[in-house]
Amino acid sequence: MNSALQAVEQDWRAFDRAHVWHPYSSMTAPLPMFPVQSARGVHLRLEDGRELIDGMASWWAAIHGYNHPRLNRALQEQLGKMAHVMFGGLTHRPAARLAAHLIDLTPPPLQHVFFADSGSVAVEIAIKMAIQYWYAQGYPERNRLLTIRSGYHGDTFGAMSVCDPVGGMHALFTGVLPKHSFVHAPQCRDDSDWQEAELAEMRQQLRSGAHQIAAVILEPIVQGAGGMRFYCPEYLRQVRMLCDEHDILLIADEIATGFGRTGQMFACEHADIAPDILCVGKALTGGYMTLAATLTTGRVAAGICSADPGVFLHGPTFMANPLACAVANASIELLLESPWQARVAAIGRGLEAGLAPCRDLPHVREVRVCGAIGVIELRQPVDMRWMPAQFVDRGVWLRPFRNLVYAMPPYVISADELAALTQAMVEVVAAAGQR
Ligand SMILES: *Cc1c(COP(=O)(O)O)cnc(C)c1O
Repeated sequence: MNSALQAVEQDWRAFDRAHVWHPYSSMTAPLPMFPVQSARGVHLRLEDGRELIDGMASWWAAIHGYNHPRLNRALQEQLGKMAHVMFGGLTHRPAARLAAHLIDLTPPPLQHVFFADSGSVAVEIAIKMAIQYWYAQGYPERNRLLTIRSGYHGDTFGAMSVCDPVGGMHALFTGVLPKHSFVHAPQCRDDSDWQEAELAEMRQQLRSGAHQIAAVILEPIVQGAGGMRFYCPEYLRQVRMLCDEHDILLIADEIATGFGRTGQMFACEHADIAPDILCVGKALTGGYMTLAATLTTGRVAAGICSADPGVFLHGPTFMANPLACAVANASIELLLESPWQARVAAIGRGLEAGLAPCRDLPHVREVRVCGAIGVIELRQPVDMRWMPAQFVDRGVWLRPFRNLVYAMPPYVISADELAALTQAMVEVVAAAGQR
């Protein structure tokens, strides 16, 4: 009689609240949810007909906006051929094309591509590549990672183990997570205030621990979900040199920063360095489908395959899904044909100007902008029962976390839409101070 299907048909929202997990959510005390009916361009359309300007690009992903005719067509064309085939023993043109795009766009040493189904898995693969590389070289004890605090690399176990140890999930999973080494996060914002002392802790750790460290892993230039922090290119350059000095691999997690978000196609370009292993995801498919990739150099690929077991030990069921590869190819081609660099710069200027009034608010610690990312850091955590609804009432979609109200809109946002977005941020942040 009372099947779940009957319940969902009677009131799908109530059913969703009672039965469906959302990211980082409680099943017993759920936060307000806003039902989306459709999305087009930079707008999300709610079930009640309200239109919201999207300030999140669906967590860095929807760089071209929603329902883009070019991306839709790429998917439809691929769908007419095949939605999926296994990648073991079979191959297809969309995957090869995508690998070629990634090799052309990323630093020259990166020549080999492993496709994964999500960002977290791409990070797992990067870690596994580093460990398997040293194993094959005859150094099985080189299986530790070194990272900087305030990082975020995903929610699976390997990725979690290199997330910020305080803000991340370490306390809960102590004893389960592998123990890696952390050094303080870089403080310098600009190369002009670079301090040699920034590197002292990492230099010391690498000197004493090099024999057991496989790789340094970090997010270049912008640390995302670990705190929305920005740091200077010189730090990255110095870390690259230190890794070379100690013969340690460098893993760059560009899952958030990739595809132009920071003003360069990849954030490593700000420092003109090449990592040994690079993770991409999020904007890879323009926000259409889940797909990620891990790239590596000829040296690492050959190293892994030069000794027992002679193969890289990974192979997800949905590896290199043709639909995802086809839409990723279209998304990259669309990006390359667009004036993306000018758009990102214009968004950066719009965020600077639009968010400037927040700088004077006593409960605001800092306002910062990098590329097309704008962050308001408050002195107190935001009230998640209150703030998202305030944004929705003002016609925008933003999802703050902890004490951070931030925006990284689709690159196609217009100047007027961006002004409306920042206006709402200023109003709501000001109102938060009055409560
Ligand atoms: C989002 C993110 C991940 C994890 O990607 P998922 O697709 O959510 O698994 C890893 N690293 C960084 C830097 C990210 O921003």
